[in-house]
Amino acid sequence: MRYVSTRGNAPVLDFEGATLAGLAADGGLYVPEAWPTLSREQIADLAGLSYAETAVRVMLPFVGDSLSEDELRDLCERAYGTRFAHAAVTPLVQLDHRHWLLELFHGPTLAFKDVALQLLGLLFERFLTGRSEHVTVIGATSGDTGSAAIDALAGRTGVDIFMLHPHGRVSDVQRRQMTTVLAPNVHNIAIDGSFDDAQALVKAMFNAPDFAGRFHLSAVNSINWARLMAQVVYYFYTAVRLGAPERPVAFSVPTGNFGDVFAGYVAQRMGLPVAKLVVATNVNDILHRALSAGDYSTGTVTATDTPSMDIQVSSNFERLLHDLGGRDGAALALQMQGFETSRAMQLSGAHRDGAAALFTSARIDAGGMMGAMRWACERTGELIDPHTAIGLAAARELDIAPEVPVVTLATAHPAKFPDAVERATGHRPALPARVGDLFEREERCDRLPATFEAVTGYIAERAVARA
Ligand SMILES: *Cc1c(COP(=O)(O)O)cnc(C)c1O
Repeated sequence: MRYVSTRGNAPVLDFEGATLAGLAADGGLYVPEAWPTLSREQIADLAGLSYAETAVRVMLPFVGDSLSEDELRDLCERAYGTRFAHAAVTPLVQLDHRHWLLELFHGPTLAFKDVALQLLGLLFERFLTGRSEHVTVIGATSGDTGSAAIDALAGRTGVDIFMLHPHGRVSDVQRRQMTTVLAPNVHNIAIDGSFDDAQALVKAMFNAPDFAGRFHLSAVNSINWARLMAQVVYYFYTAVRLGAPERPVAFSVPTGNFGDVFAGYVAQRMGLPVAKLVVATNVNDILHRALSAGDYSTGTVTATDTPSMDIQVSSNFERLLHDLGGRDGAALALQMQGFETSRAMQLSGAHRDGAAALFTSARIDAGGMMGAMRWACERTGELIDPHTAIGLAAARELDIAPEVPVVTLATAHPAKFPDAVERATGHRPALPARVGDLFEREERCDRLPATFEAVTGYIAERAVARA
């Protein structure tokens, strides 16, 4: 399997290369050269398999020669074994005669990002030890991504991780999920500045060729192909439990960077009968505007109770535009350069028609979100987190054929956002027992000024330089 850049002007890589590269050298994102497909029979054969075995069958065509089937199986069994608190890994919960919740939050940091990052951490370790190489992963986080990445990489050979978060501006639970990981290859940095300052510092480090080269910088954010690939698995796993391939299923996905819902698109391209993909946004609605009116233009970000969806630009949307636009890298490169200058772009007719065949979208405000939390609590006894509530509100308001089961992706455990849940429902969700001692654990974190010199100096003292 070969991987090409969406902008058509970067080296073609194999799976291992694309996993370690993250972003392509031409500023684009890596995608498989063609979508592999599973036959109806292969999909039917997924019935009754464990999550790990389903993962092997769905991901094997993407891995190519980078791993043998047995090696992939070993990694999947380790990623989806005891690190998840539920034996089904991603259990389904029925809400009413047609609505279901797919609980993706049973991993170590209580957010769906664990599902992909637990595997990515093992892939990094496997590929880096094979090459006798070392990488320095750096990232900026406003909460969820940082803790999931730290948990996935803690103690892994060949990797150090430096995670920047804005001092005093992440929740106590989110901070402690990062700073109580005491593995020697984990470095938490609280900077005196905002999340945007932290992100600008990370960008500046990647754009400093001497520094980036010397420490072999890498990223594990959602533009990484292997993360998306790992998320395709739960679409198959879920649809098969609800009757696929005979019966089509719809999914509603609370969306920020368009990673999770793009994985649903990949599943459909691979042959899974997906009736609809609902792109659910909060009031930061660039994706809803793009899909409903062709208007992909950025505004200012409004802070909401769903911080993981408070975005201006959805990086993975580029992968959809690439596929719908006939995979013309040169044309997309021009279009994206235009967007990066003007912060606005109109989708073409081909883009809009292609998207309309599968996607629908909704913009859910605070009232809609609280209403969905209350409905779930009063009618089914389920407490759901605010991100999940955005997805459920969209699923309930859109017109989907009545015979199609609608699955809302539950992307975070409600106890990660206890204040918002309590405000809507009157019930305060408790942290699950396995993380219940979070507030007693020792923390380790260094505080630095938000300057390039301070942060690069700190990393240079602790990271492994290339020989
Ligand atoms: C990251 C995240 C999302 C958004 O996922 P994307 O792949 O960026 O669209 C939604 N909900 C929660 C809880 C998240 O952590």
